[in-house]
This record gives sequence, C-alpha cells and structure tokens, in this order.
Amino acid sequence: MKTFYNEIQKYSWDEIGNDISNKTSKDVENALSKEHINIEDFKALISPAGKGYLEQMAQRSKILTEQRFGKTMQLFLPLYLSNYCSNVCIYCGFNCKNNIQRKKLSIKEVKEECEAIKKLGYKHILLVAGEAKVHAGVEYYEEVINYLQDKFSQIALEVQPLDAEEYARLQKVGLNYVCVYQETYNEKTYPKYHLKGRKSDYRYRLETGDRIGQANIHKMGLGCLLGLEDWRTDSVYTALHLKYLERTYWKTKFTIALPRLRPSESGFQPNSIINDKELLQLICAYRILDPEVDISISTRESQEYRDNILKLGPTSYSAGSCTEPGGYAHPNHELEQFAINDSRSPEEVVEMIKNQGYEVVWKDWDSAMQE
Ligand code: SF4
Repeated sequence: MKTFYNEIQKYSWDEIGNDISNKTSKDVENALSKEHINIEDFKALISPAGKGYLEQMAQRSKILTEQRFGKTMQLFLPLYLSNYCSNVCIYCGFNCKNNIQRKKLSIKEVKEECEAIKKLGYKHILLVAGEAKVHAGVEYYEEVINYLQDKFSQIALEVQPLDAEEYARLQKVGLNYVCVYQETYNEKTYPKYHLKGRKSDYRYRLETGDRIGQANIHKMGLGCLLGLEDWRTDSVYTALHLKYLERTYWKTKFTIALPRLRPSESGFQPNSIINDKELLQLICAYRILDPEVDISISTRESQEYRDNILKLGPTSYSAGSCTEPGGYAHPNHELEQFAINDSRSPEEVVEMIKNQGYEVVWKDWDSAMQE
C-alpha cells in the first residue's frame, strides 16, 4: 500500500532547501496575491525573502483564523503517564541513557491526576508517555482511556507510534486524537538524533500518519521539532505531509504543532535557531496554506510571546502544564521532560485570553459532533 514514505521519494532535502533560499520578494508577493496557495507559495512565505512581509502575512492569517474559528482559543492540558523510554533521542531528558528517576502512573495515580486536572476546568486532555512498550503498551493505554473516557470530552494520545490495529483498538474505548511528530524529515541525518530503539526506524515513524488515518481516528497532530535540522526545509516537508494526509484520509481533522527545542536534562543545544519573528512567519504561512488546520502552541513558548501572537493564527494553547508523571496531584519537578516557559496557571491564561476579547473553548466541538 502506498504511504507518505513512497510519496516523498520524489523530493530531495537539498533541492527543497535551495528552492526556499532562491525565493524572491516577487514570489512572496505572488503568493500573497492568491486566494489559495500551493507548496511553492508556502516556500516563498517562509523564505528569508518572506521576512519583509510579516505584517501582511499576519493580517491575512488573523482574518482567515477568525473566519474559520471565530475569536476562540481552545485549551488543553498534557497528562504525563510515564517517563520510561527505551529510545535514545539525544535532545530529550527522558532518553533511556539519562540517569533520572523513572515513573509510570498506576490507575490509582491516574485517578488522582484526573481529579486535580478536572478541578482546573479542562475537558480536553493529552496523554503523554515516553516510548517504552514494556512499561506502557497498548493494554495500559486502553485501561487508562477506558477510565478517562466519560470524564473528558476529548482524549488525545502522544506516545510511541502504534500499529493501525492498536489505534483501532484504542479508538473503540474512546481515543479521539493522536499526535506523532516526525522530529525531522531529513532521512539522512535522522539517525544521528535517534541512536537506539524503535524510534530510530525513520520509515515506521513517518508512516504513522497513514496508520492513524487507516484506523479512522478523528484527528491527528503533525509537526517537526524546530531546532534539529534546517527549520524551513523541515516545515516544507511537514506541509507536504499535511497535504498528503488530507488528500488520502479526507475524513480526518489535523493539527500542526510547532515545538521549538527547549533546554532539557540531555543538555542538547539546537542546531537551527528559529527566532520569534520567524516562528510567527511560519505560523502565518501554515494558516494561509490551510485555513482549516488547528495550530497548537504549547507552554514551551514564553508568556509574552503567546500573548502577542494569540490572534494571529494559533487555535489551541496548553496552559498550566506539568511535564512530570504525577505532577498535578504531587508536584516535585524532578521528573520533568523539559522545562516549560509559560508557567502561568490556567486561570491566568484564561484571563489573558478574555482580556484580548477572545473566548476560551474547553471542549472540542468537532469531536462532540463526530459520527
Ligand atoms: S523524545 Fe520521546 S522517544 Fe525520544 S527519548 Fe524522549 S520520550 Fe523517548
């Protein structure tokens, strides 16, 4: 069966990088003059030549976002289930070579976390775990989702990639949404960041979107880790991936996440820095390419930055996040995956959103209306 891996064999990493560098102001103006843009236009918008058009891009992105989503911001919260991991990703604090305390929540502890989170008002929860099948496999996720399914209106999963049958099994107990990030689409350099474990299999990870689509999961999240490889080239691959999946699995909804590398226990330093203006340029380019896509910005970004870009393209924010298993009910900050940047409470984020004239959405209405 044809997958995105087959689809991208016709592209070359270096050629895409050169195409982006060669885009001119004329290409950017041409892209901005169109109602619907294609991948060549997207390359122009995120190119160095596009930097001078940030104001126009931001205005267009704001209008498109308001037309499709209204003045709303959806809030979600990650629930870290386990920090066991059998992979060696050199940029991550959960990497199995890092000598940190490991923990997997029991169902009793999941209940405690759930009670602490419910008090904060959330109805959309993202279950996160390191990738260690022996500690947290499909049976464990099934048990957790089964417990949570009548307590949250949307349950998302960000754990190890699974087989299509496993996704289908979890969908039956209430899984609505799966996020799997490719980290980098550069097949040649991917192994140098992913030294060991299942995640070192580039192709298996890349084809996860196809397996999620085949399992008829309602929504999926894509993205790359900004800071590993050239962010512009990786973002073009992400856009190609999005467009391929939308064409192939047309019933599925999509989210783009734009995580920038944060300091972690691993001590890894980013190779390709994307600054604040460039990140906004990228957000706006995704919005102009795809007015329907959900754009998610996490607490990796600073308070000031998130406040400033709220109206310019994003549609979902995490708030009050804790990245350690058990950290909502019993915080100790020793087991964190990475240091968060915006450490405001949910109440403070809600107030900021309301002060900007936007409404907070606690529930994913798409999910409520799904068949
Ligand atoms: S990024 Fe994910 S898979 Fe890699 S070490 Fe961290 S938790 Fe494990």
